[in-house]
Amino acid sequence: MSVAANYLVESHLVYIGLGSNLSNDSGNSRQILQQAVQALKKLSTGLVRVSGLYLSKPMGPQDQPDYLNAVAGFETQLTAHELLAALQQIEQQAGRIRLRRWGERTLDLDILLYAEQCIDTPELTIPHVGILQRNFVVIPLLELDAQLHIADMPIKDCLAAQESKGICQIADSSWVASS
Ligand code: ATP
Ligand code: CA
Ligand code: CA
Repeated sequence: MSVAANYLVESHLVYIGLGSNLSNDSGNSRQILQQAVQALKKLSTGLVRVSGLYLSKPMGPQDQPDYLNAVAGFETQLTAHELLAALQQIEQQAGRIRLRRWGERTLDLDILLYAEQCIDTPELTIPHVGILQRNFVVIPLLELDAQLHIADMPIKDCLAAQESKGICQIADSSWVASS
């Protein structure tokens, strides 16, 4: 794309939920999430802001390891569907295999918010359906932007409506750069 054409493409602020509870050949969950953030930088037109790192209990099947979770926020020129395809490619590269619903995975990347848009297609729902019920999403989102609204609800009210059980912060946002 030429520089002139690039200016004409609108950027959208997006928030991505990251999760991992399995290692792959190139590292453990923390390293997988670090690599995922590097991959997200390639989708962004600017800075990628990342929350602290959280340890959380699994949803769904309980016979799986605890998860590492974080949220990243950045501007992108991709459409929401292009972004979903790019995230699925990053998941694939991290060795994601779907064995059972809400089962263990090397990498999960969910589009939590795409600007202020609401999207409801067979392959994409935005805001992400799980946001309001998941403290491992709301807590790191709040860390990135305490003024956010989700489906017209201030994020602080979303947090108040949830229990903070089963989650603890294990690192501040510097985890992305640390080895
Ligand atoms: P959950 O979506 O409840 O967090 P999950 O992340 O385990 O569960 P996946 O197996 O990763 O679910 O994804 C299932 C499908 O969800 C994907 O193929 C994708 O088409 C769809 N999907 C719908 N909305 C979104 C979204 N906002 N972000 C990512 N995937 C989405
Ligand atoms: Ca998910
Ligand atoms: Ca997902």
